[in-house]
Amino acid sequence: MLSKKVVNNLTNSSGIRAMFEEGERLRKIHGAQNVFDFTLGNPDMEPPSLVKDTLKKYILNDEAGIHKYMNNAGFADVREKVAQSLTKETDVELKADNIVMTCGAAGGLNIIFKSILNPDEEVIIFAPYFVEYSFYIDNHGGKTVIVKPDMNTFEPDLNDLKSKISKNTKAIIINSPNNPTGVIYKEETLIKISEILKEKQKEFGTEIFVISDEPYNKLVYDGVKLPSILKIFDNAIQGCSFSKSLSLPGERIGFVAASPKIKEINMLMDALIFTNRTLGYVNAPSLFQKVIAETMDVTINVEEYQKRRDILYNHLIGLGFTCVKPEGAFYLFPKALIEDDVEFVKMALKYNLLIVPGKGFGCPGYFRIAYCSSLDTINAALPAFEALAKDCRELG
Ligand code: PLP
Repeated sequence: MLSKKVVNNLTNSSGIRAMFEEGERLRKIHGAQNVFDFTLGNPDMEPPSLVKDTLKKYILNDEAGIHKYMNNAGFADVREKVAQSLTKETDVELKADNIVMTCGAAGGLNIIFKSILNPDEEVIIFAPYFVEYSFYIDNHGGKTVIVKPDMNTFEPDLNDLKSKISKNTKAIIINSPNNPTGVIYKEETLIKISEILKEKQKEFGTEIFVISDEPYNKLVYDGVKLPSILKIFDNAIQGCSFSKSLSLPGERIGFVAASPKIKEINMLMDALIFTNRTLGYVNAPSLFQKVIAETMDVTINVEEYQKRRDILYNHLIGLGFTCVKPEGAFYLFPKALIEDDVEFVKMALKYNLLIVPGKGFGCPGYFRIAYCSSLDTINAALPAFEALAKDCRELG
């Protein structure tokens, strides 16, 4: 009766959700304070007070027309502000016409794929990757092609990338800071990728889009500067959201910005606006478009995330885990202490510790910790990691 594909996906996907449900079960038995749930990238911090104050202002002093439909691309004044802010950030001159307001980064990715993909065209993703990419690509008839990582850095293996680009490659996705590793790709790596793309586009006579999925671009630590994808790649389309930088994931607000250097830029912008409409999003939420226009240059307390990273990372290293030190986002992706990551995650449940196997991110043998939960939870969970490490050592 139902779509075979969807039923199949329901059966085979989302270890993350399954762990979340397991968390609900454990919380009922042991109480929320005794369960250490590091499964979902759902920020615990409240949005900055400026966001709440701006929201109140718009609710109380209702600007006429604020709740109406607007251009499917979003309010013109909001897109103008996004363009100005992004121009400063990326060093690439952007206009309001290069911006479409979207229902988060997820909505942005779906309108990009809908706009660019023909049946069976390929989109390259780098392992370990955000689990939803292949579903979004499949939504629009595309095929996912996976490039393996350099296991020492979790940057893409560039020889593998070279070998995977074909005449059917329509796009690659770059996600840096990365979910699940927190790694920021180095500028020199990105420049090498751009050289590979140039060479392959010449060989096949094709154009390949570079989709930069950047919901974490404001969560950067240790003073690292995030390289500008719009600057490095001519065919760049950047998707951003305020889900993480302003702790607003439930409000579904973000934007897509396309490089003015793309050959058919006007047609692409029309396609993005059309698909925003016809996928049923119609437009990004009106109230939150107005709110982010006045708040997008602030962020939640990034130092607080850095503190959490340091506590967890140092503790895990002390226990004998290996892990690439993340420079952004709010994830750690250590190697499991036994070969089977799924079994490792099951062993953690004994200590009410909820983590996610790496298998679902395309990297078996590893596991993900989302440290967007309180410092109290993190400190309380440290003995659980210690007990888990001891159990693994005893297994030999
Ligand atoms: N891309 C990545 C890499 C993510 O981690 C997420 C959410 O966790 C998204 C996209 C979707 O974000 P949004 O809530 O803005 O749709």
